[in-house]
Amino acid sequence: MSSTTEKVLPDSSGHFGAYGGMFVPETLMTALQDLDQEYQSARKDPAFRKELADLLGDFCGRPTPLYLAERLTAKLGGAKIYLKREDLLHTGAHKINNAIGQILLARRMGKTRIIAETGAGQHGVATATAAARFGMECVIYMGAVDMERQALNVARMRFLGAKVVGVTAGQATLKEAINEAMRDWVTNVRSTYYILGSALGSHPYPMIVRDFHRVIGDETRRQILQREERLPDHLVACVGGGSNAIGFFYAFLNDEGVKLTGVEAGGDGIVRGRHAARFQGGKLGVLQGTKTWLLADADGQIELTHSVSAGLDYAAIGPEHSYYRDSGRIDYDYATDKEALAAFRELSEVEGIIPALETAHAIAHVIKVAPTMPRDSILIANLSGRGDKDVQQAAEILLKD
Ligand SMILES: *Cc1c(COP(=O)(O)O)cnc(C)c1O
Repeated sequence: MSSTTEKVLPDSSGHFGAYGGMFVPETLMTALQDLDQEYQSARKDPAFRKELADLLGDFCGRPTPLYLAERLTAKLGGAKIYLKREDLLHTGAHKINNAIGQILLARRMGKTRIIAETGAGQHGVATATAAARFGMECVIYMGAVDMERQALNVARMRFLGAKVVGVTAGQATLKEAINEAMRDWVTNVRSTYYILGSALGSHPYPMIVRDFHRVIGDETRRQILQREERLPDHLVACVGGGSNAIGFFYAFLNDEGVKLTGVEAGGDGIVRGRHAARFQGGKLGVLQGTKTWLLADADGQIELTHSVSAGLDYAAIGPEHSYYRDSGRIDYDYATDKEALAAFRELSEVEGIIPALETAHAIAHVIKVAPTMPRDSILIANLSGRGDKDVQQAAEILLKD
């Protein structure tokens, strides 16, 4: 365990052990190296850190509360359950932490045009918000299927002044949107900064995105120590690309007594093409700039994925998660659509908090494990986002009659 965390990861070539790296076209190598350099200077610059901290406080609403879910705790009858309330951030999810951090990098690099991909639309909204705040041109690529599932977020991006470009290729979800964003970046690399939305893609993105979300776990650690005067027993977060989970877990990686669980999207169950749980039936491969676990067939073709939540519906998992899965430091499980929808309902009714469908996967895991834990144990779930964007979709499934 100590051997896995004493090293600084990623290494200088962008690897987390066997995972990560820079699998990109030659034309992007210089841009990625420039970004890495700029980030290394920014992270040490007190003025950059202060501006970021001020924006996270006054514009985004940090620190977010650590909330004791008393009624859910009583109902499940096991561990004491806390929720880290990232859903209360500006724009409704953790994603703004990263969007604000990266737009400051974009400005530092003299870029005037921002592009991004989005799945559920939350990263698109966070990016469009950050671009509006800094008066920059913004183009968001989004799968046509996701645009339909998340029409509210499409309207939000447009009100924020962003151009939303629908992508109809392939499955018309996040993977295709990323391809289009990469194509745009290759063409316009001089003027354009690509704000990647999860702990994914080529180095240095998985590191940068993780670092901008570390604030989640740093705050949680401080808050629980203040409140309970001890560390928690178990942390749970949902894992799409893995940004909210790694940001939440990072401050606890060296605390051996704290169990960490990432929850992937089990869709209709672990049947090929019907889920997005990369560690269940996935394999090692390269997708969109990084080497990691992904869902591919015997020929290496990327398989179809499915999840009720657009934000977890992606064929690859962030490379750092593959590393900690191998080392055994982080456990991974999955929740099905059905379990997530039940958890969506449960948290809404019992705590008065409507979670995002992505987040509901973490809550589904909490519902499974909390009753098996002693009453004096502490379980914290990262409430990565609010469910306003999902209400219409959930109503179509759950309130039919
Ligand atoms: C995008 C999103 C996720 C999944 O992305 P990660 O990078 O895995 O965190 C989870 N929850 C919410 C609310 C999201 O918007």
